Order: sequence, then structure tokens, then C-alpha cells
Amino acid sequence: MSKIIAITNQKGGVGKTTTSVNLGASLAALGKRVLLVDIDPQGNTTSGIGINKADVTYCIYDIIINDVHPKDAICDTNIENLKVIPATIQLAGAEIELVPTISREVRLKKSLSLVKHMFDYILIDCPPSLGILTVNSLTAADSVIIPIQCEYYALEGLSQLLNTVRLVQKHLNTSLQIEGVLLTMFDARTNLGIQVIEEVKKYFQQKVYQTIIPRNVRLSEAPSHGQSIITYDSRSKGAEVYMELAKEVITYE
Ligand code: ADP
Ligand code: MG
Repeated sequence: MSKIIAITNQKGGVGKTTTSVNLGASLAALGKRVLLVDIDPQGNTTSGIGINKADVTYCIYDIIINDVHPKDAICDTNIENLKVIPATIQLAGAEIELVPTISREVRLKKSLSLVKHMFDYILIDCPPSLGILTVNSLTAADSVIIPIQCEYYALEGLSQLLNTVRLVQKHLNTSLQIEGVLLTMFDARTNLGIQVIEEVKKYFQQKVYQTIIPRNVRLSEAPSHGQSIITYDSRSKGAEVYMELAKEVITYE
């Protein structure tokens, strides 16, 4: 069975892209067929997995706005089983261009339904907003992973995000679920990190993944080499924890 997971949080810099790329690569390393869908105009998943944006023929914009078949936009990566639908800066206009269009919230869902059977997991890397691109992602998804950075104000803005999830559940996608909440960039040397973990667990209870992603320099270096942590440094702590997370995600299949 295939599953579409949106990786979302309207805050920037919480680890959405890092999680998309490295969870995707880890699932692929475990033999799953994975498609990464980059729907953030910044295109960090696209460049982070080694795609040169100048070489992209069709991106997610063409799929959502111009009805290009998603198969025509799928690119290979340096990992077997891991494909990507790239995003380029062209996507920046999509929020506005979608406003007057018919069925604007379900465009991504319709497109991904054409290729869903080809993959075990489709991971959507969402932009840092609750705009129409994120609504498209939540409408297309079976479930969401919410990365939360172990920092001050970790829970700030989450009620807005959960409210958006509820609205999508009510009007557009009744079967949308919370797949899990992922604590990221944990620093064991500070009390703050431990406090945030407790707070988040109180709020989300069993939805919080056992795997906690620590701060790891190799994780922050890998994107500038256009690689996931699995190929950049498979022996790093970062690779170890994202593999653990992938196993946890598979257990909840
Ligand atoms: P988002 O997609 O939510 O904006 P990113 O995944 O791009 O967040 O992460 C923000 C920044 O933090 C990036 O520079 C990334 O390399 C870095 N980063 C993310 N996770 C970690 C981590 N566990 N350890 C160290 N750096 C990280
Ligand atoms: Mg990002």
C-alpha cells in the first residue's frame, strides 16, 4: 500500500526539508520506493538531493498550474528507489495564480493520484506557510509529519497549524491523519531541549516519535554537497537517527 505524507509546519527552519530528504533517503535505503515532492518555492529539497535547477524541464509548478503529467516531472537521484519532483522559483507565483482557478485545493491530489501506485511513500516537503500550496499538500496527503524544533517557542503557532489540519479534514480530506510529531535539532547539553520534549509529549502524547533528531553538523553540511546524509556520511549520528526514524515510520504502516 502506498502512503502520501506531508511534512509540514508553517515555521521556517524547523527541519522540514532535512527530514524530507533524509527520511526519504532512509526509506529508500530500506528498500521502499520513494518519491519526494518539493512544493516549497525555495526548492531546498530539489537542490539538497543534487538536482541542478537550471536543468529542470518540468517542475511541480507545471503539474499544478499547467496540467503537465507528474510522470514527466519525476527526476532520478543518486539513490536507487529515490525519485523527486523538483520545485523551482517559478512556483513562487503559484499561490496567487491559483486563487481564481477551479478546484484549486485538489490539484496536487489529482496529479499525485496518477503516480501513487508507483511508490510506497510519497513525501511532500511543504513551504513555511499555511497558504494554498500547503492546503494542496494536506488535501493530497494521507497523513502529516510535524517537525518541531527543540527551541524556545517550540509550540508557538501549532494551534494554527492544527486548526488548518482540522479545516482540511472537515472540508477537503476527511481521512487526513497525524502520522507523527518529530522533535528536531535537540541539544542534550541544554535543559531547554529536555523541557521542550516534555512539553511536546504532554501535548501530543503517543503521536511523538521515539526517535529524536539531535543537532548534527553532518546533517547541515550534506545539502551543500547535493546529498542526503545516507550517501554523504552513512556512519554519522545523523544517518543513524534518520534510519531509526524510517524504521519507526514503517512500523506504523
Ligand atoms: P525547514 O525546511 O523547516 O525550513 P531545514 O530542514 O531547511 O528547515 O533546516 C533549517 C536549517 O537547519 C538548515 O540549514 C539545515 O541544514 C539545518 N538543520 C536541520 N536539521 C538539523 C540537525 N538535526 N542538525 C543540524 N542542523 C540541522
Ligand atoms: Mg524547507
